Amino acid sequence: MKLLEDRILQDGQVRPGNVLKVDCFLNHQLDVDLLDKIGEEFYRIFKNDGVNKILTIEASGIAIACMTARYFNVPVVFAKKAKSKNIDGEVYTSKVQSFTYGREYDITLAKKFLNSGDRVLILDDFLANGKAMKGLLDVCNQAGCSVAGIGICIEKGFQPGGAELRAAGYKLASLAIVNEMSDDHLTFREQ
Ligand code: 5GP
Repeated sequence: MKLLEDRILQDGQVRPGNVLKVDCFLNHQLDVDLLDKIGEEFYRIFKNDGVNKILTIEASGIAIACMTARYFNVPVVFAKKAKSKNIDGEVYTSKVQSFTYGREYDITLAKKFLNSGDRVLILDDFLANGKAMKGLLDVCNQAGCSVAGIGICIEKGFQPGGAELRAAGYKLASLAIVNEMSDDHLTFREQ
């Protein structure tokens, strides 16, 4: 998506540890016009895939999911990054190794919001090693729902998450795929 690539080149900052900072438009301060265009693009890509729910993970995925849900007219549900309270079996839980914080955390999602009748589009801001996405897929697996597709704003193509998900057969659409990045240089994969 050229608009997103141009914005990354204009405002993205590369930080040590292969972190791309896009907090002035995507995941802290939010450019709502850009998010709307992102939602429209995800709709164009997945509109024929029978999506009846959008699933994401807090916090950065929520705005992207909501803007996309306006096009699909479906609800958004997000996994919480909280300590599991799975005492009475009311929540699905999974463990995720955090890329940005370097530690493991639990995600939880109330069972009443995801079930075997659902066909979900999973959205997130970044795809790196694929750990957050594996956690969300694990939750889908526990719910017995089907995965219509995975939409990512920025995939870091030099990390293995994207290749693994494509090899596993998922319909994965990344609006921008970063090939390589350094302080003064960032290139995208042609799509
Ligand atoms: P993964 O689980 O695929 O390794 O990493 C994806 C998650 O880590 C995303 O939910 C995202 O919030 C965060 N993340 C991974 N790489 C980056 C990055 O370069 N910049 C930012 N801002 N977040 C990232």
